[in-house]
Amino acid sequence: MVFPSRAELDRWDRDHVWHAFTQMAEYEPLLIERAHGCTLVDIDGRKYLDGTSSLWCNVHGHAHPRIDAAIREQLGRVAHTTLLGASNPTTVQLARRLVELAPESLDRVFFSDDGATAVEVALKMAFQYWRQCSDPRPEKTSFLALGEAYHGDTLGSVAVGGVERFHALFSPLLFDVVRLAAPQTYRLPRGVPAVDALPYYLGQLEQALQRHHRRLAAMIIEPLVECAAGMLVHPQGYLRGARELTRRYGVLLIADEVAVGFGRTGRMFACEHEDVSPDFLCLAKGLSGGYLPLAATLSTGEIWQAFLGRYEESKQFYHGHTFGGNPLGAAAALASLEVFDEERVLAGLPVKIARLGEHLARIARHPQVGDVRQRGLIAGIELVRDRATGEPYPWAEQRGGRVCRHARQQGVLVRPLGNVVVIFPPLAISLDELDRLCTVVEEGIGAATE
Ligand code: PMP
Repeated sequence: MVFPSRAELDRWDRDHVWHAFTQMAEYEPLLIERAHGCTLVDIDGRKYLDGTSSLWCNVHGHAHPRIDAAIREQLGRVAHTTLLGASNPTTVQLARRLVELAPESLDRVFFSDDGATAVEVALKMAFQYWRQCSDPRPEKTSFLALGEAYHGDTLGSVAVGGVERFHALFSPLLFDVVRLAAPQTYRLPRGVPAVDALPYYLGQLEQALQRHHRRLAAMIIEPLVECAAGMLVHPQGYLRGARELTRRYGVLLIADEVAVGFGRTGRMFACEHEDVSPDFLCLAKGLSGGYLPLAATLSTGEIWQAFLGRYEESKQFYHGHTFGGNPLGAAAALASLEVFDEERVLAGLPVKIARLGEHLARIARHPQVGDVRQRGLIAGIELVRDRATGEPYPWAEQRGGRVCRHARQQGVLVRPLGNVVVIFPPLAISLDELDRLCTVVEEGIGAATE
């Protein structure tokens, strides 16, 4: 096999690869060739600390021997078989393990391959449920979603998404949703003090439910943190309040834990913090340890019952993805869950979370930092033009991007969300690596706001 030269790869990357969420006219190739632990290595041998978990998915570090071995072992048996009317032992075992770990009552698992598909599945299942349940409510065809939410890039998940800059263009293609302002504690409406954030946002939710519940199939929420919104942390208690209200008004609850699941918030699932059991739980990214595309939508026996019947009644869920529940991904996921136990990963998090908190407390004093938000090992640092008023920098100035370019020169990879610098390391990050990540980001903030 002839290996292409460095220059050829660079050119082919620029000429042929259309990168996601990237302005290709300005793209500067970065070719990551290898990785181990929390370190990525580019084609020239330069090393980078993986400060974004390779887009919020890597959990235990790269090339973890346990996960690599599980994938190889599965490869020796079979790489792919279908879940349409058939199964395989690895995927079955994963379903069983997920049910053991998930909040109570979530004992049915529908596999797909990405976060967006996990969300599409939940939306369509919720819609179909109301047509087929024992007391059908076919008028329940809408969804309630939060402002600035991000649930993926397929049209259904874009419809429930609320990030203006990504989603507004596609609005003619989307179904209507009832949208509420994102619950938060930084940019509150005038006259609402931070201590009243929770009752204020729950009051808004109750009003919307009162008004629209008859036509609402489900509410969708990213539990605790709206990640792509800029790591917006909900007021504590909002998730629990949303669960109680949706139940009271007969609206299903979809928890999108694609980003916050698998330990990121300090617990296995974010819903556990507020003792919430949703009707649907969407999982992807960290499900396979971040190794392979795999997603799951968990739901309850009650939902499942509505899809049972004789073949000719056509109650089955007419939805599927070729690679849904792929055995290689399932093997990686089972191994990742074993690593959680064997390495006592969750027990090791509090000290890392506290260390991140110490760094953030210091960074928060920078005059151009308006807000720092943290939940577990997830953090967002919001840069502002005027700290006193919270006036943002114009987004075209790419202040967050400047911080990240500076960090890249220092061997740390982070990605911004507009003016928010995101820190989202693998759970396996060491304290030394965490110190380096935060120090480099802090220096980058200095350089980007001079
Ligand atoms: N939901 C949330 C909360 C996400 O953060 C993402 C991706 N960042 C998605 C869904 C979509 O996942 P995917 O990119 O795997 O389709």
